[in-house]
Amino acid sequence: MQRFQHYIDGEFLDGSAQFESLDPATGQPWALMPEARRDDVNRAVDAAARAFNAPEWADMTASQRGRLLMRLADLLAENAPRLAALETRDTGKIIRETSAQIAYVAEYYRYYAGLADKIEGAHLPIDKPDMEVWLRREPIGVVAAIVPWNSQLFLSAVKIGPALAAGCTVVLKASEEAPAPLLEFARIFDQAGFPKGVLNVITGFGAECGAVLTSHPKVAHVAFTGGPDTARHILRNSAENLASTSLELGGKSPFIVFGDADIDSAVNAQVSGIFAATGQSCVAGSRLIVQNSIRDAFLDALRRKAESAVIGPPDEMATEIGPLCTLRQREHAIGLIERSVEQGARLITGGRALDREGFYFPPTILDCSATPDAPCVTQEFFGPVLSVVGFDTEDEAVGIANATEFGLASGVFTRDLARAHRLIRRIRAGIVWVNTYRAVSPIAPFGGYGLSGHGREGGIAAALDYTTVKAVWLRT
Ligand code: NAD
Repeated sequence: MQRFQHYIDGEFLDGSAQFESLDPATGQPWALMPEARRDDVNRAVDAAARAFNAPEWADMTASQRGRLLMRLADLLAENAPRLAALETRDTGKIIRETSAQIAYVAEYYRYYAGLADKIEGAHLPIDKPDMEVWLRREPIGVVAAIVPWNSQLFLSAVKIGPALAAGCTVVLKASEEAPAPLLEFARIFDQAGFPKGVLNVITGFGAECGAVLTSHPKVAHVAFTGGPDTARHILRNSAENLASTSLELGGKSPFIVFGDADIDSAVNAQVSGIFAATGQSCVAGSRLIVQNSIRDAFLDALRRKAESAVIGPPDEMATEIGPLCTLRQREHAIGLIERSVEQGARLITGGRALDREGFYFPPTILDCSATPDAPCVTQEFFGPVLSVVGFDTEDEAVGIANATEFGLASGVFTRDLARAHRLIRRIRAGIVWVNTYRAVSPIAPFGGYGLSGHGREGGIAAALDYTTVKAVWLRT
């Protein structure tokens, strides 16, 4: 079995224990992963704290940091096929998607490489003639970055990129569900030439590794992506040392289609909006809110696409739907569907685990118009399951869209520009995509309202989150 190691203080080390990672396409163990227990976590945080103050990093100029990040981006692009294959193996995410995603992960590192020497302080026009006052922007300190298994190279890039650009050091905790891509990423990072300890990559279970990391007194900021329940644990733990936090959590994103929309384009966007990554995406457009005038035709087109999707091994280029990452995800989806059907939701297609090895689950569509409070409408599946609710008026559409505790992404499909603007104002979500879905760029902030978390990743503001301001007073 393939074996992986932690990356701590510039060295590749075994963990205090180890655990098996399963191949989602077969359900069988394929690799041995190191498990970070308390001592390993402490070692990683100590290394990051030492590196933060060491002259090799603390005295490095911002443009030098930028050049190292640029080198990392180039190395990632060079190693993309290997990393994509590994991510596909460990997470079950299809090779088409992992390959495409690594290309833009490199772009995120390039963006933050360019930003490193543009994080500026300020000079203040203070009302005292014998005083000069200016603001220094300083790195906040050691960052604990915690990510889930889906899109982990991307979700770690939006933390590591701005944190290193700002001059912080990082302990990255990969998810125990599929840590291979990030443990391999550490080997690529090691070649970029950063001083030792600037980035440390570990994995382990939330209850020990995650809890010790987020409550560690030397951690200044916790950047977390994952579920809301875990976020609550993290807030309680980080309260110990009053670390700041940014939380990118789940979603139940509305995908609103009006009768005047370009229907073919909306159908295609909805198919990739919900079924890409086999639905395991925080921005999945998982609630279709469709105007009743086009509802039957729209659902018919969607059902045909769902039923003709190529389900197969994730490492084959022809595959469109791979397995879910874990058996737990599949059981969670099946449980929510059963409870929703009991409450009156109507299964249009899918809904049952496929009779083959591995954690496969077919694209599923549920008509929930008669049961808008069913669990399929209110809870996140993190699987390829679309819940559909019909509407007649614009007000009704907005009401249904906002009837959620989440607020991450949303989609609006209409040809009526004035209506699009009204919806942009009224929808409570961190992202509104109009006549498109899932578009991302390092330049645009990404994050949510309500239970979808707080703080934003991407863009200039994200780099400022990794800094703190020092006011300097000088008598002249
Ligand atoms: P999760 O919250 O169970 O796990 C995420 C990470 O947190 C893992 O590394 C896990 O080990 C760690 N963790 C668990 N308990 C911890 C604790 N007590 N202290 C510290 N760390 C702990 O999430 P998951 O099931 O792996 O991922 C799915 C969730 O992530 C979904 O809700 C999804 O919407 C969300 N997500 C959000 C975004 C976003 O950008 N908003 C992106 C992807 C996924």
